[in-house]
Amino acid sequence: MTERQDEAGCRPGCGACCIAPSISSPIPGMPQGKPAGVRCVQLDEANLCRLFGDPRRPAVCERFAFDAALCGEHRDQALIRIRELEAMT
Ligand code: SF4
Ligand code: SF4
Repeated sequence: MTERQDEAGCRPGCGACCIAPSISSPIPGMPQGKPAGVRCVQLDEANLCRLFGDPRRPAVCERFAFDAALCGEHRDQALIRIRELEAMT
């Protein structure tokens, strides 16, 4: 990565970590959290989190700070890698 793209260093419009992993904590609109592979309802059309900076955003979402090893070079890579990681844990 050559430059930070936003505060999280994440690729804007990716959203892979809001789809591939399961999230067990409640999310507004998804009180039971979300299963793996399901798109978070808070992920907007541009694949950005509607809760960014909102205290209702699950703390676990912070876990997905940009990590080149996981995020890969593009979204499809991230989707596959996160799914694999999820399957291992
Ligand atoms: S998978 Fe990585 S690049 Fe994609 S949204 Fe999540 S943190 Fe950002
Ligand atoms: S709350 Fe936001 S950061 Fe967390 S999974 Fe949903 S869209 Fe992604």
